[in-house]
Amino acid sequence: MKPISIVRNKLPRSGIREIMEKALLMEDVIHLEVGEPNVATPSHICEAAYKAMDEGFTHYTSNAGLDSLRRQLAIHLQKQYELNIDKTNIIVTPGAVTALNVSLLALVDSGEEVLIPDPGWPNYEQMILNQEAIPVRYNLIPENGFIPDFDHLEKVVTNKTKVMMINTPGNPTGGIFDKETIQKILLFAKKHDLYIISDEVYDGIIFDGKHVSPKTFDDNDRVLSVYSFSKNYAMTGWRLGYAAVPQHIAEIMSKTLELMVSCASSVSQKAGEAALFGPQTFLKEMQEIYKDRCDKAYRLLEDNGLKAFKPKGAFYMMIDLSELDKEGSELALSLLQEERVAVAPGTTFGNSSKNMVRISLATEESQLLEGISRICNFVNKNR
Ligand code: PLP
Repeated sequence: MKPISIVRNKLPRSGIREIMEKALLMEDVIHLEVGEPNVATPSHICEAAYKAMDEGFTHYTSNAGLDSLRRQLAIHLQKQYELNIDKTNIIVTPGAVTALNVSLLALVDSGEEVLIPDPGWPNYEQMILNQEAIPVRYNLIPENGFIPDFDHLEKVVTNKTKVMMINTPGNPTGGIFDKETIQKILLFAKKHDLYIISDEVYDGIIFDGKHVSPKTFDDNDRVLSVYSFSKNYAMTGWRLGYAAVPQHIAEIMSKTLELMVSCASSVSQKAGEAALFGPQTFLKEMQEIYKDRCDKAYRLLEDNGLKAFKPKGAFYMMIDLSELDKEGSELALSLLQEERVAVAPGTTFGNSSKNMVRISLATEESQLLEGISRICNFVNKNR
């Protein structure tokens, strides 16, 4: 038989899944490895979905999404980030993951290079490799709140680079790019004639500072901003995201989306409308909860002499364990086997974070603090 796809066969596995699958087979494990809100979708959103089904919203929608939702999203972004866009700039997708994939498909051909953050969300690398393009890492500086190292960016950009991907607030870093950083990124992109794919799926989860979208600025015709309902409204399973993009790119994305999934689920789209224009108390409450957990987690780590990077947004925290002689998956596996705490190994986010582990703050408080105590125990035993 002929071999199955070499490209797909060679795609790297997620280091997070690897730990999770092992952890699920064990007892008494504290799970800090996965990044998913630990609360139910607010009930008014579910009610809107039941109503949508009763009213017959159970069929295909147009590729780019329901007209009503696209209009609402354009208004939402105009208000939230002063974006100068309308519904023709909006593409609704099954989750941000699809929006990111179709953004890349619309821009990149095989063999072209895409800049991705180090450390950064592992799926960027996989998506790019899946499209037979080349991921190239640029460093973020942990000591500066994980903003890009512009000297390193100048070293890794080439004439084959087509896109720079950014993520603010960042996973796994919790870093937020301020206005000055975003303006520097826009200048860099202009200088090297690059598109920017800006992953802003954690835009609603900020506890220190303010979210700045690169799409807010004048020179935004090279910016594709990607958003999601998953994290802000605890809607990971509804699979609903969207992108705000230049109109000519929206047309290509809409065409590609049809090939992959036809459209996002009609029921989820109606639920998304309710999420956007219903009460925002859930989002505010969750921000407070994450901030409170973040403060307590950071204090506990600090009290035990561990170095952590306090996040400004999203719901993750990176812990620096470079004082130990293990790194990457070996380190995460030892933590799991010796202390029964599952964490995401730093290597899965890039090479620069190989001595770090990521914990998720989207975990119930007592579990989170118990998990951290186990990490501290491990460090105290092995330092
Ligand atoms: N981007 C980042 C940085 C993420 O962490 C995630 C999910 O973990 C996504 C995108 C995907 O979001 P969605 O559930 O909307 O596909």
